[in-house]
Formats: sequence, C-alpha cells, structure tokens
Amino acid sequence: MSGEHEAATSTAPAAAAPRRADGADLRGWRGVWVYVELERGRVHPVSWELLGEGRKLADHLGVPLSGIVLGPGGEATRQACAEAIRHGADEVRVACDPVLEHYRTDPYAQALTSLVQRGQPEILLLGATTLGRDLAGAVATTLGTGLTADCTELRIDDETRSLAATRPTFGGTLLCTIHTLEYRPQMATVRPRVMAMPKRDPQRTGAIVEEAVTLAEDDVVTKILSYIQDADAGKAQLAYADVVVAGGRGLGKPENFQLVQELAALLGGEWGGSRPVVQAGWLGADRQIGQTGQTIRPRLYIAAGISGAIQHRVGVEGADVIIAINSDPKAPIMEFATYGVVGDALQILPALTDALRERQALRAAA
Ligand SMILES: Cc1cc2nc3c(=O)[nH]c(=O)nc-3n(C[C@H](O)[C@H](O)[C@H](O)COP(=O)(O)OP(=O)(O)OC[C@H]3O[C@@H](n4cnc5c(N)ncnc54)[C@H](O)[C@@H]3O)c2cc1C
Repeated sequence: MSGEHEAATSTAPAAAAPRRADGADLRGWRGVWVYVELERGRVHPVSWELLGEGRKLADHLGVPLSGIVLGPGGEATRQACAEAIRHGADEVRVACDPVLEHYRTDPYAQALTSLVQRGQPEILLLGATTLGRDLAGAVATTLGTGLTADCTELRIDDETRSLAATRPTFGGTLLCTIHTLEYRPQMATVRPRVMAMPKRDPQRTGAIVEEAVTLAEDDVVTKILSYIQDADAGKAQLAYADVVVAGGRGLGKPENFQLVQELAALLGGEWGGSRPVVQAGWLGADRQIGQTGQTIRPRLYIAAGISGAIQHRVGVEGADVIIAINSDPKAPIMEFATYGVVGDALQILPALTDALRERQALRAAA
C-alpha cells in the first residue's frame, strides 16, 4: 500500500497495491465517484441513494466521495451540485456546456469519459435507470473497463481493496460477486430503491469544482427535434411509493385486481403484481415487481396471492413491513413476511378494505 493511502486511511484494510497482470500500477486511481443524473432540470433520486452507498465505500477506503454533475449550467445544475453535497459528497465535479442541455449518449459519454481520465477515480457508480444504463455502457466501453450492472450489494474486499459488486445471476437463483481487478475505474450500476436513501444534511458543505469539457454541437450526430412526453410516464410510481399493494397468480383472474386497486387507493398507495400476471397481460409491465421489474422500498407492502419466489423477494425485501395474504401457510413468502395472513385473498382483501373504510369514516366523524 502506498504512503498516500496509509496517510489518508484510518479504516482501510492493509491490502496489496492494485496492479495489473502487465505490471501497470493502479494506485493513481483513487476516490469514489457517483454520477448525479440530472435530466430536464430534475435529479433522479437514485443518485442520492448511490451517494449514501458511495459514502460507505469511500469511508472504508479512506478516500473522498465525489458527485459528478453534467448539464447545461444554470439554476438546476447549481441545485444538483448543492444537493449532492447535502446527500454525502465531499466535493462535486461539474461540467457545463450548452451541448449537454438534453441527454444524448455521445456528448455525455465523451464528457464523463474525459472527467474520468483526468480525475482517475477507482470506483464510478451510476443508477441503473434508462439513462444510467446507456451512459454506463458507453463510458465503460470507451474506457475499456469492467462494468457490473444491476448490483444489489456493494462492498470493499479487504484483501484486494477492490469493489465487490454483487448481482443476481442464473435467472436470480444465484448471487454472484464480481471484482474488476485489473482495470480502473471499477464501474457498477444499481437500480432505484435497491439502496437506502441517506439522510439529507442541509448544513453539510463541500467543494464544487468546475471542470472544462470540449464539446461541439457539430460533432454530435443525434439531434433533438422535439420532446414528446411518454403518455404512460409517471403513471405507475411504484419505486418511491410509501404503500404498495400487489397481487399474484393466486388472484385467479384479471378482474380480481380491482380488489388490489381499491385497497391501494384507500391507503393512498400504488399497486402492482408478480411477473406471471404481467406476462399474462393482466397488468402493464411498469407494474411488475421483482428482479426483472421494479424494486420497491415502501413502508408497507401487502402481497396477495403471491408465492414469494426469490425473483419476487429481491424486489420487495427492502419494505419496512410486509403483509402476505396466502392460502398456503407454507408459501415461501411466509418466511420473510412481517405478518402472514393465511386465507383466501379474494375474501381477505375486500374485508380489509371495508374495515379500513369504516375506520376512516369513524375518524372523519369524530
Ligand atoms: C429470470 C427470471 C426473472 C423473474 N423475475 C420476476 C420478477 O421480477 N417478479 C416476479 O414476481 N417474478 C419473477 N420471476 C418469476 C418467479 O420465479 C415466480 O414464478 C413468480 O414470482 C410467481 O408468481 P406468483 O407468486 O404470482 O405465482 P405462483 O408462484 O403461482 O403463486 C401463487 C400463490 O398464490 C397462492 N394462492 C392461490 N390461490 C390463492 C387465494 N385464493 N388466496 C390467497 N393465495 C392464493 C398460492 O398458494 C401461491 O403461493 C422471474 C423468473 C425468472 C426465471
């Protein structure tokens, strides 16, 4: 380990200096970077979740945590930088250019690649959003480094001082941990809601470093002629809902999802379902919960007629309270539910809705 690392590290493990098979020394690559996804004036909340996770990795390594902001400049960009500090970054590196007004792969990948080449972070994290997946792939390919997508856990391997990035594999039946030992930065994407939201500290301060990027509109082949909002965008807000009610194959037929929707509406929450019911066309793909759907972290999750297969479980186990309604007391969901209700969901769901409605009416009358 270099003197530089020893001086900066109180909790860092005594690991061998990272070195490539061809002998190249990787010690110059230092620090944890989180890409702050700013698009159309809004930061995707997964960026804050990643800063929370990045904070833990940086503290373990004894290195700074940086937020990376790319944008056209202006108030939204300034706000994104300030918020990144409040969510745990030590510093923010920001590159502004009119070419970065709207997301396009080429200029964003070019800007982020040049920042990485200059700043040499050992770890670079992005959200596994549509934008993040696109950008991460382009940047990793340009840099010729490793990218582990859709991670469910990130930690530092004490022996190698490398990022241990865990993700489901073989259809979610196994978890594998991937290390990028010979290339830098070690890149990973994480889906929204997989990591917990860190506490925002409005008093927190940090440096904002402006980075120069050389971009020319004429070099960008993709032109944005107009922006048409997806008519369905924003309809299902499962990932960030406080209450989610979902149904599975045990509900028998699509019409019975009315019971799920009624309960969700009464609780002011969202509704969704397991993969088989989405595949059967009972509900839209944006309402699928689980490994290949949405990851949710509500305060309350009610699962009716859902067996709790591992691919479903990985998408819901961040919920504070899970109530499972299942006719089979031995269903796998009973092993991780906070409360298990054994019975027919077609009777229990409406009974629950009626009881809650009655209670709300009593409260309103009091
Ligand atoms: C690569 C891959 C990715 C996958 N991704 C996902 C994913 O993202 N999300 C997901 O959900 N699945 C996913 N799956 C599928 C997953 O393995 C399961 O098949 C699926 O979750 C089962 O859905 P289910 O619980 O609705 O149906 P089932 O497994 O058929 O379970 C139905 C449950 O309902 C109960 N039941 C029956 N009747 C009633 C009743 N009247 N009242 C109460 N309970 C009743 C039964 O006891 C049973 O437990 C994936 C699979 C693979 C291979």
